[in-house]
This record gives sequence, C-alpha cells and structure tokens, in this order.
Amino acid sequence: MTRIAHLLGHQPTLSFEFFPPADEVAAKQLDDTLDELAGLAPSFVSVTCGVGGDGHDRTRDIVTGICGDRPFPAMAHLTCVGHTRQGVAALLDDYAAAGVVNILALAGDPPDGSAISGDFRYASELVEVVRAHPANFSVGVAAHPEVHPRSADRVSDRRHLAAKLNEADFAITQFFFNPSSYNRLCNELADLGCHQPVIPGVMPVIWPKSIRRYAAMNGSTVPEKLFSDLEALSGPERVSAAAEAAAELSRSLLEANAPGIHLYTLNRPEASTLIARELSGWVGTC
Ligand code: FAD
Repeated sequence: MTRIAHLLGHQPTLSFEFFPPADEVAAKQLDDTLDELAGLAPSFVSVTCGVGGDGHDRTRDIVTGICGDRPFPAMAHLTCVGHTRQGVAALLDDYAAAGVVNILALAGDPPDGSAISGDFRYASELVEVVRAHPANFSVGVAAHPEVHPRSADRVSDRRHLAAKLNEADFAITQFFFNPSSYNRLCNELADLGCHQPVIPGVMPVIWPKSIRRYAAMNGSTVPEKLFSDLEALSGPERVSAAAEAAAELSRSLLEANAPGIHLYTLNRPEASTLIARELSGWVGTC
C-alpha cells in the first residue's frame, strides 16, 4: 500500500475524508459514496475516529476494509482521548498486519469538553509512538490555520505545530474559507524552519447549519455572504453552489502551491464529484 509521504511533492493529491457510519442505513450510504468516489481514483482517503467506546475499532474495520478492497490507500485517524499505550500499540499492530501504512495522529476532543484522559495528552506524543512502530507508518498530523481553540495564543500554536509537524510527514488542515489563512499558516511555519507539506482541508458547505456549528467549535471563520446565499438554496442547487465555492477556494490554494486538496465529504458523493471534475488537470489521482 502506498505511503502518503511518497505521493506528496509530485502532482497535487486529491483526497476524501469519511466518518464511520452510526447505523446500517448510514453504512449503506458510505458504501455507495465510496463506490461513486472510487471512480475518481482519489490519491488517498481517510476515516475519522470517534473518541468513545468502540470508536477506534470501527475506524479500523472500515480502513482495513478499504485497504483490502480498493486500489487507493486509506489512512486511519488515531486519537489520544481515552487511549492507553497498550491499546495504541495493539491497534498499530492490527493496522500493520492489514497492510495499512498511513496514520493521522490527533489529540481528539473529549465529548464533554473535559480534560483529555488516557496515556497521551498531545498529538505529538502519539506521533512519537507511531514513528517508533516497526511498520514505518507514514504519519500525518492536524493543523489549524485560524489557530486551535485551546491554544493560548498564535505564537505558541505555531510553535507546537511546527515541532509536531517536523516529527511527522505532512499535515492536513481544519477547514477554513479564506485562502489567506492557509498562506499565512505556511509562511509562519516556514519562519519557524518547518517546510513539511500542509494539505488544506476543504469543506463544501452542503449543510450550512451544521457546518456553522462545526466552525464555531473549530474556530473557523464563516463567510456570512456565502453561508446566507447557500442557506437560501436547497437540494441539488445548494450542492452545486457549495461545490462551486469549494472548487474556487481549492483552485486558489493550488495556485499558491498547496500540495493537494483534502475534501471533507460528509459521506456524500455529490459535491465531491463536482469539485473533482472542476479540479481535473490541477490534481493527480492514484
Ligand atoms: P494537538 O496537536 O495536541 O494540539 C492541541 C492543543 O494543544 C493546541 O492548542 C496546541 O497548541 C496545544 N499543544 C500541543 N502540544 C503542546 C505542548 N507540548 N504543550 C502545551 N500545549 C501544546 N478529532 C477526532 O476526535 N477524530 C478525528 O478523526 C479527527 N480528525 C481530524 C482531522 C483533521 C484533518 C483535523 C484538522 C482535525 C481532526 N480532529 C479529529 C479534531 C482534532 O482532534 C481536534 O481539533 C483536537 O482538539 C486537536 O487535535 P490536534 O491533533 O491538533 O492536537
């Protein structure tokens, strides 16, 4: 299976993010979405993980399934929350045995906003453990262009991010809507001596109400005009306007030399398909 680190630095990548389905109907929706997006030959896909209960097991089952059945690499998200060193070691062994070689190491967010429990507090500690595993995983981390909400200030946010990213292979960002947020992040990292690839995460606003809520939690600034225009639309009209806005943002990021575009699919194929068509010729696939 291809390591994402090896894909970067050539033609820009196009990747899709999914989340584990909550029930059988949602599982069927995810399967259908994967079938449809597989036709676009993504460079890689990734699967998020929930922070409680069997969250990591569900992610593992989906990621190993994709790696077994599909021609493109799948990356597993792995979070600190509630995890022991032993649990992480066992999970990494499972991934290695199934041929999964790409891990996104994250802090995660405790559901009730409490302190992170478990053996790890910061994503950088997880990076260290993933790196030490003999499978030679390709390791990604999260970046927050508009500064992580738990950061004391911008300077410390960038300092911790640069240190974490220098130990990893690449970062994927939280969603944002102004390309200058991404450019500023890359410049600030470069000023700290960090030149690792940072893949922008792009969110098509197909569900403005929910995405406003996610944005408030992530500290992402919402462009009022775009959101109110999209809120006034519905059905396929909204999807195509959301895809057009996301494609425009993606093009300006690629013009600024972004190493790829990571699309938050929300487990729906329509907007991502339209965006991928708009970006054909700009991005490479697997
Ligand atoms: P960290 O890098 O640990 O940073 C968190 C905070 O701690 C920051 O403020 C940072 O500045 C600070 N910090 C870091 N190191 C230190 C240190 N040594 N000393 C003091 N402060 C420090 N969440 C999920 O639950 N599941 C997912 O699947 C998931 N996928 C994601 C995918 C992407 C691409 C992104 C961008 C986010 C994702 N998240 C996911 C959300 C993420 O887990 C949260 O944003 C979380 O709050 C922060 O994660 P992090 O890995 O950036 O944390």
